[in-house]
Amino acid sequence: MKSMAAYNGREIPKEDKVFAASGKALDAVAKYGPADVINATVGALYDDEGKLLVLKSVEKEMKNLPADKFAAYAPIAGTPGFKRAILKAALGSYEPKSYVCVVGTPGGTGAIRNAVANYSCPGDRILTHSWHWAPYKSIAAELYRGIERFEMFDDEGRFNITDFDYKVKKLTRNQEHLVIILNTPANNPTGYSLTMDDWYGVKRVLDEVPLDKKIALVLDTAYIDFAGEPEEVRQFYTVVDNLRSNILPIIAYSASKTFTFYGARCAAMICLAHSPEVAEEFGRINTYSARATWSNPPRAPQEVIERIYADEDLLAEVEAERAKARDMLLARGRAFEEEAAKCGLETVPFSGGFFVTVPCGEPDRLCEKLNEKNVFLIPLDRGVRVSVAASSEEKCRRLPSLIKAAMDELV
Ligand code: PLP
Repeated sequence: MKSMAAYNGREIPKEDKVFAASGKALDAVAKYGPADVINATVGALYDDEGKLLVLKSVEKEMKNLPADKFAAYAPIAGTPGFKRAILKAALGSYEPKSYVCVVGTPGGTGAIRNAVANYSCPGDRILTHSWHWAPYKSIAAELYRGIERFEMFDDEGRFNITDFDYKVKKLTRNQEHLVIILNTPANNPTGYSLTMDDWYGVKRVLDEVPLDKKIALVLDTAYIDFAGEPEEVRQFYTVVDNLRSNILPIIAYSASKTFTFYGARCAAMICLAHSPEVAEEFGRINTYSARATWSNPPRAPQEVIERIYADEDLLAEVEAERAKARDMLLARGRAFEEEAAKCGLETVPFSGGFFVTVPCGEPDRLCEKLNEKNVFLIPLDRGVRVSVAASSEEKCRRLPSLIKAAMDELV
């Protein structure tokens, strides 16, 4: 007997590409030392010395938690104080006009999983952009759904509203429900943020969807707090809070990056519903799903986030620390772009966040070539992903010419 598992149509690779690449990078670091290796595989923010950057104010609060605040179960949909606090974190100063409901989840992953489970049917296709976070496909597959991609950019490098329109129309012809996932601002893997014009385009397309079709518009904002000026990057709420009644915007807001809480598994799904009934149903159905999947989300990070928002000084401290980290990250992205322009290295349109993507025809071969120079990136389908979050500014400046040279060697 070689296999006991029921695959149920899922393609399960022997090795995860991301973990394989980061494993190789760690081996090289162990052999040659961190200064001689560029490990741009990791999806977490590291300081210039190569250490995981953890907000000190958050660390202090976490360490100060009394036992009952981390050991006790949290309510399935999250503690009331956390729900109030995370809503403020997600929306900033934006005051929603819609009916809001918040359900806590273990990471943005949990929010996306629940949205797919509860707003689409088995056999449906979930619509997302061509450059997207790989787990969207596996989340869909786990739930017996598929993925449909629209081309994210047109030939001029603009957000491809024409293909978005085409795919929305195509899918809504045959499906009663459609889940659309847009990962912005600071998309993973490209770093692109939809502009307000892009958003008006999205609204125009959604305005044309027949009212008997039900659309869940999932806004995966995992990188929102590292995308740019906090209020500016939240401007799109004015558009998504003003859509027709057959469109349900769901914000997947993750604490993983915002509070440097990657392993603490904390996030929320937030709906902006047209009616109190739809908001109530959102709370009920997603709580039900949570109970049947992970049960209660971890309590400790919820307590910390509640405490931060209950104490003005502490909140100011967290925001100041985060702003410093964000400036460091944005400077790295700019350094990469500047050097890429100098050496003629093409990048996919980028505006901020953890990653930059370089399009290329043979991503695996390019990564192998770079591995020979102790440079480690993530191969994607049509390019390679560079984590500027994990590389110092000095390394971000060196990377473009190293990538360009390796590309030239391949031809
Ligand atoms: N969405 C995107 C685009 C991501 O890159 C990630 C994490 O890397 C997530 C969602 C979910 O993160 P988490 O479940 O850790 O909050």
